[in-house]
Amino acid sequence: MDLDMHRMSRAAKTGLRSLGSFVWPSRSLVSGEHHGGDGLIAPDDFAKLTFLSGSGCQKCALPLEADLGDAGICAACVARPPKWDAARAALQYDDASRKPVLDLKRAGRRDGLATYARWMALAGRDIIDRADLIVPVPLHYRRLASRGYNQSGWLADALSRQTGKPCSHDALKRTRPTPTQGNRSARERHLNVRGAFMARPSRLKSIEGAHILLIDDVFTTGATLAACTRALKKGKAAEVYVLVLARVVRPSDVTI
Ligand SMILES: [Zn+2]
Repeated sequence: MDLDMHRMSRAAKTGLRSLGSFVWPSRSLVSGEHHGGDGLIAPDDFAKLTFLSGSGCQKCALPLEADLGDAGICAACVARPPKWDAARAALQYDDASRKPVLDLKRAGRRDGLATYARWMALAGRDIIDRADLIVPVPLHYRRLASRGYNQSGWLADALSRQTGKPCSHDALKRTRPTPTQGNRSARERHLNVRGAFMARPSRLKSIEGAHILLIDDVFTTGATLAACTRALKKGKAAEVYVLVLARVVRPSDVTI
């Protein structure tokens, strides 16, 4: 396509999009309902979301009762420090954030990605500053082939566009397919993914000595993130920071 054609096609697409939003008002990411506003989230729906940026545990992003500042670490992380060096989450995973998270994960709805990346960039601004490379939690190649996309890879790309930090989709490799983590206890989840990841030998140069920002859509028990961190540290990453879109805070919200 020559440049003029490309420009025309882009103008046509922009025109269609604005016409589309006139004929079909935006569908809120949170409720899925049409609403009259311009944004992707109806104002009433936005108010239902719980953002975690700020005063959570520095190690696992769990909200803390009081803001303990940079030293704020929850009792669980003091007793059993996570393998990664810091963790941040944009949203609490709950009734309000379940639909956008599942629409992204299971239905491949992409129109919220730039918004999610902005929220994640805000929640993780300190660890993003320190990061050299963004790495998403990978799917096994067979799962990727059947689903056609990796939602964590989409989030990592959107965050890379937002922050200008480089992103590597293949720094980590899933060495075996693992059954879904749903309906498993924390211990079963850890056993299920233990040893399921490795640092890809051809990417060791970019991992060794690097500060890695590990991206996933949801932090449930941290089992997958711990297995990925172990693989990155085995590949001699200097530090691993976890950044997720949503974090399960109450065990009753574990539906994923
Ligand atoms: Zn913690």
